[in-house]
Amino acid sequence: MTDALTHGRTDARTHGRTDARLRGGAALGARVVGAALLLLAALAAAPAAAQVPAPQSVLGFRPGADSMLASWGQIADYFGRLAAASPRVRLDTVGLTTQGRPYLLATISDPANLARRTALMAAQRRLADPRTLDSASEARLVATQPAVVLISCSIHSTEIAASQMSLELAYRLATDSALGTLLRDVVVLLVPSANPDGIDIVGDWYRRTKGTPFDGSSPPWLYHPYVGHDNNRDWFMLTQPETRILTKVLYKQWFPEVVYDIHQMGGNGSRLFLPPFDDPVNPNLDGTLVEATSHVGTAMATALADAGYTGVEHQARFDLWWHGGNRSAPVRHNMIGILSEAASARIASPVQLRLADVRQPARGVQFPLPWAGGWWRLRSIVDYELTASEALVRLAANERAEFVRRFVRAGQRAVEAGRSELPRAYIIPTSQRDEGARVQLATLLLSTGIEIFRARAPFTAEGRNYAAGALVIPLAQPFRAHVKDLFERQAYPDRRLYPGGPPVPPYDVTGWTLPLTMAVAVDSVRTAVAADLERLDTLAVTPGRIAGYGDVVLLANRANSEATAVWRALAAGATVEFAPAPFDATGRTWPAGTLVVRGARAVLERAAAELGFDAVAVPRLAAAAGAPTIRRAPRVGLYKSWNANMDEGWTRWVLERLGVPFTSLADSAVRAGNLRARFDVLILPSEGSSQIRNGRPAGSVPPEYTGGIGGEGLEALRAFLQNGGTILALDQASLFAITDLTAPASVILGGRGNRDAPTASRFSAPGSIFEVELDRTHPVASGMDSVAAIFFESSPLLDAAPGGRAIASFRREGNPLLSGYVQGAELMAGRAALIEAPVGTGRVILFGFSPQHRGQTNGTFKLLTNAILYGSSQTGRPAPGR
Ligand SMILES: [Zn+2]
Repeated sequence: MTDALTHGRTDARTHGRTDARLRGGAALGARVVGAALLLLAALAAAPAAAQVPAPQSVLGFRPGADSMLASWGQIADYFGRLAAASPRVRLDTVGLTTQGRPYLLATISDPANLARRTALMAAQRRLADPRTLDSASEARLVATQPAVVLISCSIHSTEIAASQMSLELAYRLATDSALGTLLRDVVVLLVPSANPDGIDIVGDWYRRTKGTPFDGSSPPWLYHPYVGHDNNRDWFMLTQPETRILTKVLYKQWFPEVVYDIHQMGGNGSRLFLPPFDDPVNPNLDGTLVEATSHVGTAMATALADAGYTGVEHQARFDLWWHGGNRSAPVRHNMIGILSEAASARIASPVQLRLADVRQPARGVQFPLPWAGGWWRLRSIVDYELTASEALVRLAANERAEFVRRFVRAGQRAVEAGRSELPRAYIIPTSQRDEGARVQLATLLLSTGIEIFRARAPFTAEGRNYAAGALVIPLAQPFRAHVKDLFERQAYPDRRLYPGGPPVPPYDVTGWTLPLTMAVAVDSVRTAVAADLERLDTLAVTPGRIAGYGDVVLLANRANSEATAVWRALAAGATVEFAPAPFDATGRTWPAGTLVVRGARAVLERAAAELGFDAVAVPRLAAAAGAPTIRRAPRVGLYKSWNANMDEGWTRWVLERLGVPFTSLADSAVRAGNLRARFDVLILPSEGSSQIRNGRPAGSVPPEYTGGIGGEGLEALRAFLQNGGTILALDQASLFAITDLTAPASVILGGRGNRDAPTASRFSAPGSIFEVELDRTHPVASGMDSVAAIFFESSPLLDAAPGGRAIASFRREGNPLLSGYVQGAELMAGRAALIEAPVGTGRVILFGFSPQHRGQTNGTFKLLTNAILYGSSQTGRPAPGR
């Protein structure tokens, strides 16, 4: 009945506009009026709103109650019941998560809006692309189209309050009469969790430890099965299904004007962060949208203040530079991206904070209402987030036309900038070192709504010739900022804590240029491209082939898929050699590092066709003396600490994707020793030495998850090396390999674990892309070019020691920075980035960078697979344990 009453109370202003809207609907008008009347009749006859279930009646507790968490099953159950009972709520399963749970999207609006949902979506698509709008249809849509707001909860699963809040927000939107009125002008897309698996991963852990000494601890494993917290670093790369699902909702289906992403932060400071964001502002962001973002943030903060909530902070830490988050990808699509970060409780357990212990900022414009201290509960967070969410709905309803018009204008400015500013277009040539990477790059752009065209015939642009099939991306398109920011090199501004002082740490990384990290050649052009073009919908790899006769296949090893093919060949019984020196065959000279695969031509032919690489076969080729030879699939162990290490998850993801089998090793498996009998290669993902050695402290989690590899594990790793094993130490783990495993190399600058060292103020590279030079006679550099772009995030700067060999080094002169920020580049000159360091009869391969950074660095994945192959190779003598 609430609904009927709401209609009765509709104020004149809204009513007048609704009438205008129906009149403006021309041919549709009569049908819409008819539908609305039918709905009104249905609503009048509908059961009372009291029958719309309140969350408490389904869960048995109030959302946010101390120590209580709704599981994903309970959340899905509640939303199902709510949608069944409320005409304002529609529930869709829009995909399946990594672990197979339903990914839910609740569409909440006035029943008349839900009834015309498909038309509203089509209209949003037109608003997102102003080239499809004439001024009359724009005026009509500005007058009639509701604002669309997407609210995304708990992508970070220990930041779990929002998932619980979503139940109450949905219930209130479904039943509250004032909100019901607002919903005539707003469509709320509510995502109860952007990581449903994590709700149960964290919830199960919380329930398991509740009431024990470990109550409120974070789980010893990642709360996204692969990438943990980095699930909110995936919004342009789209490596995970959850990111792809919501990306489709955003840029293919609904095109909301506002995206609100709800997070939590540490528990000891301000109670809630809301925009305005912090500097710097990325040059590709539309200035009007920056203003509008601050406007929405302060409207939410004002509503909180009106309701008596204190401790809201602005313009701190969270910047407008970084690309890759759930709030930063939308703003490059002309959407307002809002972030809130609430102070955390201990998962669902309350904490009490004395005012003297709260590290909140001094009172000021950015923090006008300090918090008084006291109890802070899950429910406190729910209340703040609920108030902020309702304020957003109210603002979007009250300023509906402004939101819609602003969205259109931002798109128009983007298109205009693409016509008047440089570059005018990007061109991705057909011929690339890695066909899979070319297709992946085009696909992730298409998935994020970027327009791409394919040349039907060869053409010339700025003196360069392009084959048919070249991809052209004109920048006169609405989501220009997204592709431009992904393709150009970032120049992060030099910001200091005080004049002459150390750099202000960025919020996240400072550079992400995809053509560099993915090693895909992309040209930018200063004039419009004149060519016979067709719009591209999807792109598949061009099948490759193996030319020539014979069963000895020569792989140039340029594409990552060639590693996949090699593993398939090894599984089929092939042998693989790294050519130790250049050789002549098939009428050309093959470089050192060429992979010679014997005995699996049919397997490789199928792989070439499927994965898109070319190779050449010869009937016979003498094995070169001393060639490192792999005679069976490498036995790989991947260390998995109980620190929920994201780099471990990314490594696992990359290896799985490349088809490289491995065994995960917990601390207990490392401590158990006898590793050489089981493994050829062990991988230590990036992690600090103390974390690897000591793990989580006693008393912080149940004892089976504490202690690290300990002294026994250290001895086991040393014995593994003494017996001829190979350890790959990634990024920060190379420090552990040098100090604890005596890998012969010296540390010039200590990486993340050594920020307080005097050099820390002279050298800073907190997430940047650098160029290194490669020694291509080393097997680990097989298939690489003479230079490569590496991702360096406060990584250690190394020198090879006598006996060791640098495989990749920073150049001796000039600044190696390609994208992002560096201070103290001169300290990098000539330093090693990749080293083979012998230990015993084995070796450590030290990576002074991140070869698999967030699954984005296709250009250096090969260094990882090469190192695994090399580590499991023999040069004539059998290794122990075989
Ligand atoms: Zn978060």
